[in-house]
Amino acid sequence: MVNLMEYIWKLSGSRYDRIEKGVAVIAVGSVERHGDHLPLGTDAMESQFIAEEVAKKIGAHLFPPIWYGSSVSLSRFPGTINVDDDAFKSYSRSVLKEIARNGYKLVVVINGHGGNSSLLKTAAKEAAYETNSTFMMVDWWRDVGKEARQKLFTMPGHAGDDETSAMLYIDEEDVDMEAARDHSPEYMPKVSILSPIVDKYLYPNAVLGGATKGDKNKGKEWIEAVVEDISNEARNLIKVLAKE
Ligand SMILES: [Zn+2]
Repeated sequence: MVNLMEYIWKLSGSRYDRIEKGVAVIAVGSVERHGDHLPLGTDAMESQFIAEEVAKKIGAHLFPPIWYGSSVSLSRFPGTINVDDDAFKSYSRSVLKEIARNGYKLVVVINGHGGNSSLLKTAAKEAAYETNSTFMMVDWWRDVGKEARQKLFTMPGHAGDDETSAMLYIDEEDVDMEAARDHSPEYMPKVSILSPIVDKYLYPNAVLGGATKGDKNKGKEWIEAVVEDISNEARNLIKVLAKE
């Protein structure tokens, strides 16, 4: 099931016909305000970087990412492009189903944005049972690399020291550290709160955490741990699927 890594959008049809379809990897992100210092495409850029590294490690076919996501909680900021939940879910389900229909035994979905998580899981579940195929869904910043995240960062969060460090590692040129500002609210919810009023309280500047504490080396260590964890998880899953 493990083959050479391929960038699917670069392949000719004739080459695509010839290569064996084993594992597909696709990144999902958002176009969303990340404070004043991180690129608007942060979530897609991070998840695409990780997806590419994972595809190289496990010999998978990398599909083009889904760039736009569900970003209603930060939609009041300039630069956020918020896709309606039902549109995002239905579009994602179609893309995932189509990848599976092309014959892949396993589709690894690497999500980089919290607002997408529940919708994407539902989309992947529907696609899996409609096509009798297997999807692995990873919210990369919280499902994997947990020990490294805990060890390295003191003020994590949206555009916080964890995400700023990741972007400094991935694409330092597009980060403006002079514009970085920290934000730590007194009240931090421990449960899900769905409220535009609380969104404003938590994200007055589209930052939650220690943006100014971003560090490129920490970002590298974290991202490498994340790539390692996802690759190992995929390899274990491939062994199970190979028995079928
Ligand atoms: Zn983000």
